[in-house]
Amino acid sequence: MLKDKNGIIFGVANKRSIAWATAQALHDAGARLAFTYQGERLKENVQGLTREAMPGSLIIPCDVTKQEEVDETFKRVSQEFGRLDFVIHSIAFAPREALDGEFLTTSREAFLTALEVSAYSLAQVARAAEPLMTEGGGIVTMTYYGAEKVIAGYNVMGVAKAALEASVRYLAKDLGPRNIRINAISAGPIQTLSARGVADFTSMLKHVAERAPLRRNVEPREVGDTALFLCSPLIAATT
Ligand code: NAD
Repeated sequence: MLKDKNGIIFGVANKRSIAWATAQALHDAGARLAFTYQGERLKENVQGLTREAMPGSLIIPCDVTKQEEVDETFKRVSQEFGRLDFVIHSIAFAPREALDGEFLTTSREAFLTALEVSAYSLAQVARAAEPLMTEGGGIVTMTYYGAEKVIAGYNVMGVAKAALEASVRYLAKDLGPRNIRINAISAGPIQTLSARGVADFTSMLKHVAERAPLRRNVEPREVGDTALFLCSPLIAATT
């Protein structure tokens, strides 16, 4: 489905990352992929994961709080791929102390960091990708229900996800005339590195397993397959 298509994936930290499950779905569909990693600490993880599974993948450092790294990332992608067809934005961060107790006590610093990394970065990345998406394409980001309803412990991340979801709608309007579609997947809880920062995450998993229509939690690969669908021509009129 994605043969001869080029994509970039932001957000692989380790094998549990939703971004990695997404990479596998896109790779299996024939796409050529570039990966970014945040800081030297995660470089080896990404290299290790791609070494055998996806040899020859482009691997680039990119911390979205450093504009020069975002610029360099898309320069490299332009040099290596020329054209870009899709972008997976699977990144979020809030300081740990902001993901426990009351939202009421969120510091200015924690609020700004969460909003910058988890929401602003979508517009930042979309803006840099747009000139390379010369034949249109798809952008996919990851959100969570805590944007709509209060989920205990999700706190400032819920506020950041609300900003992210609104950003998706405004970006859809801006990018639509260039045939670039943008969508967000609201995944259920998945045990990942980021999830460990959310207080009482295990009870979220238990709640879903008991109450969701399918009476189980979602598998990362199922989220990856949804991202594949959203990047594919099967859903060419949805943004
Ligand atoms: P993860 O920890 O594997 O991925 C989060 C990624 O964000 C990491 O790769 C990290 O390096 C990256 N990141 C953080 N700060 C960054 C920065 N400054 N610059 C660049 N990258 C940065 O966890 P995940 O659960 O796979 O999270 C991926 C996305 O899915 C996030 O947006 C998360 O909110 C969302 N999501 C997760 C769940 C869940 O339950 N795990 C549910 C719904 C949505």
